[in-house]
Amino acid sequence: MGGGLIEDVGPSLDADGTPEIDGKNRLAVPGFVNAHMHSGENLNPGLFENLPLDIWFVHSHQVTRHVPPTPEAIYTRTALGAMQMMRTGTTTAIDFLYEAPYISMETLDAVARAYRDIGMRVTISLGFADRPYLESLPLGPEAASLVSSEAPPARADAMLELAGEAVGKWHSAGGMIDIGMAPSAPQRCTPEFLSSTHGFAMEHHLTWHTHALETKSQALTAQRWLGRSFIEQMHDMRLLGEHSSVVHAVWLSDRDIEILAETGTTMIHCLLSNLRLGDGIAPLPELLRHGVRVALGTDGRGCDETLDMIELAKMTALIHKVHGEPHEGWVRASQSLDMITANAAVPAGRKDHIGKIQPGYAADLVLFDTSSIPFTPLNDPVRQVVYGSASGEVATVIIDGKITYDAGRFTQIDGPEIIKATAGYASEEASASGDPQGAAALEVAVRKMLGEAEGANLGIDSYIGRRSDSASSD
Ligand SMILES: [Zn+2]
Repeated sequence: MGGGLIEDVGPSLDADGTPEIDGKNRLAVPGFVNAHMHSGENLNPGLFENLPLDIWFVHSHQVTRHVPPTPEAIYTRTALGAMQMMRTGTTTAIDFLYEAPYISMETLDAVARAYRDIGMRVTISLGFADRPYLESLPLGPEAASLVSSEAPPARADAMLELAGEAVGKWHSAGGMIDIGMAPSAPQRCTPEFLSSTHGFAMEHHLTWHTHALETKSQALTAQRWLGRSFIEQMHDMRLLGEHSSVVHAVWLSDRDIEILAETGTTMIHCLLSNLRLGDGIAPLPELLRHGVRVALGTDGRGCDETLDMIELAKMTALIHKVHGEPHEGWVRASQSLDMITANAAVPAGRKDHIGKIQPGYAADLVLFDTSSIPFTPLNDPVRQVVYGSASGEVATVIIDGKITYDAGRFTQIDGPEIIKATAGYASEEASASGDPQGAAALEVAVRKMLGEAEGANLGIDSYIGRRSDSASSD
């Protein structure tokens, strides 16, 4: 491994003076790529339960907060999540960075330093929105007067200016830290702003990443505002393509699926987050049948506590069998593994650079201990990684040719110190939750809207059907 790249692959290579790792009882797998998470939620495990996204968002993302946490808190919080990902085999993350009321260079610097210090590869996707949260929902005009405590969004030109500074300071164009553009979602941004973030991404050769159609209420919003879906809107605006990825995409029409396939846009499937928030289930079998590239993301720790790509890959391979479709089309472990390696390299902006163990690719590797129970006996390495509870058997993680985690220890940072420091910040995060009264008023409006959305007939249904009365009474 020279210069962070794999030079050769084979049974007996001349190490040429470089340090050797004993591969006895070790299985090498390409490092996993978490294609969607939010380090901003790293202090939120266990905070909420059984809240649908729209209500959860009001509290979890602190819509009413006007002051961000300190850079020290942001650094520590980011390092904690990176540690959690690395110890379960993730070597690259797409971190959709959002911070209420909006991100600043101070926030970005703290996040980038944390990933740099632990030695993890990352695409920091700058999360922007130029519409207030309240205006992103299908509420009547009377709702606007309900809440005065929501922090105003940043100005569009200020956000693009920040993106310019971020690229100049941190973007390595395929190296360890990259910058990407991430307008929050079509309903959170004006069409003009969506276009300008995309234009900026194209000009600077960056990835473009957005949430789309996560919930039925968002599908309803698109129908009411546009008379078509947000995928169709983005397609008409020429925002989709291989450089673009859409996160969640649960409430897709048949036409939406065709568009994703035709344009080569990556769909980022966040199954466990969708289950946790009751969003419904993305139509993965149809997406795969149409040849859409699918990558997996955990989403933030506030709605998928573990940030564990193996757990996610396993559930992804299993859950779509509930539709009762022919078994020949069921997702295989090897497909699921592709979704967390080679497929996910594309939205991370590192196609042909990460996700495979091949000469010329980055030396980002996970070594599993095959003398452990999950790998004994070793019948099928891929299936046993995906199905066999392998997360706890990560022996060594190598990123860019450097050992970053080995025998339960992070080699680049003081892990126990980060955990200790985080405990001090957790309470600060919980208490800095903006304006509780404003959040409560916002929640009332959101609950009313949700009731309406759930009753709407959109001609698509991404909930797994309830048992019918006749079936249950038999
Ligand atoms: Zn997200």
